[in-house]
Amino acid sequence: MVKVVKFGGSSLADAKQFQKVAGIIRADLTRRYVVASAPGKRNAHDEKVTDLLLQCYKLAKDKKDVTPTFEKIADRYRGIIKDLALDYSLEEEFAGIKTALLHHAGSDYIASRGEYLNAKLLAKFLDFPFIDAEDCICFQENGLLDAEETNRELTSLLSMHEYAVIPGFYGILPDGSIKTFSRGGSDITGSIVAAAAGADLYENWTDVSGMLMADPRVVNDPRPIEEITYRELRELSYMGASVMHEEAIFPVRKAQIPINIRNTNDPGAPGTMIVPKAKSNVVPTVITGVAGKKGITAIHVEKEMMNSEVGFGKKVLEVLENYNVSFEHLPSGIDTMSVLVANKAIEEFKGAITADMVKKVNPDSITLVENLALIAIVGRGMVNTMGTAARVFSALANAEINVRMIDQGSSEQNIIVAVDEKHYRRSIEAIYNEFVK
Ligand code: ASP
Repeated sequence: MVKVVKFGGSSLADAKQFQKVAGIIRADLTRRYVVASAPGKRNAHDEKVTDLLLQCYKLAKDKKDVTPTFEKIADRYRGIIKDLALDYSLEEEFAGIKTALLHHAGSDYIASRGEYLNAKLLAKFLDFPFIDAEDCICFQENGLLDAEETNRELTSLLSMHEYAVIPGFYGILPDGSIKTFSRGGSDITGSIVAAAAGADLYENWTDVSGMLMADPRVVNDPRPIEEITYRELRELSYMGASVMHEEAIFPVRKAQIPINIRNTNDPGAPGTMIVPKAKSNVVPTVITGVAGKKGITAIHVEKEMMNSEVGFGKKVLEVLENYNVSFEHLPSGIDTMSVLVANKAIEEFKGAITADMVKKVNPDSITLVENLALIAIVGRGMVNTMGTAARVFSALANAEINVRMIDQGSSEQNIIVAVDEKHYRRSIEAIYNEFVK
């Protein structure tokens, strides 16, 4: 049994958190490969080390004094070393990074040092070997991960170590320079390491006890999700529910490795299991979760006999393509077609897009409805349960919410409704209360 464990920034923000992390790792000998983030916030007013590093980069670029900000970073690590009473010094590393800053090293290199230093420190504290991500996470020249090369390097390095700490978030380009993933990317490193190690489980330790059935800012004290499939997770995270980096599921999904989201501050809680296939498709609440996003515009195109006009839809979508706009959903009727897009994506070219559509397909009418919200009701339990849609719509009707559009995914695992943005909260509450409360 091999587990790969990734600890997020808040789990490694200070010495107290380091102690908790060490406790978790030592409690299970199969937790062999540890991926570390940079120190995160210790409280709501604190700053993440990665943000401070990026500030330093900007200061150096603007030829301003980096010392006060750089010292804040160094002090974070010095504090951890002192509070853990470690016989260890990172002073030489600090000096090297500061020199690199003053010599205008790249922003990715600078940003990556938070993980590098923290992983070194954690390796020392755990007495585990340190494997640098620059020796095994390989990017292609175009900036995309070189999955094959990475797998080769990682497999060979991991086979030499029974236990190891690896910094998250970055890797190396063919020219030898450092490249980072997008923010929050240590989750991706963890997933890549889990796949290369052929792990039985990828544990992603954070500061919440798993994924919740709804956004806690919208619904009061939502229930945690015990088990969710990769597919359901994709649907919910696309709609804005986030528990880890969106791209982190791909490497483990391919290798069919489950992910367990756990809470460093409450290690007894089982958290959420993200699995390729659920134990059962019978879910007591029927739905697995509800999530939504605001800022949507619907473009309604209407034309009699549209249905029999070959290539109609293609022409409409081509116009969007010309403006580099991707669509979110595409519900259609016999003589109507609606394209849902993000407000932001079309805001600059609204007029031009409608004019081009008129030219291309000569519709009877074309209308734009702005400021809609999409709400996704997601769950494998819906497939075999009759009446789910009826419950969704009566819950919304009872809350006096007008449904502007309906779309059911072909997987039958999601129902998507569009409502006026001002009803976003109320819609989510109504649906949550209908199925969960
Ligand atoms: N430290 C990086 C960030 O703050 C990466 C991570 O924590 O996953 O985005």
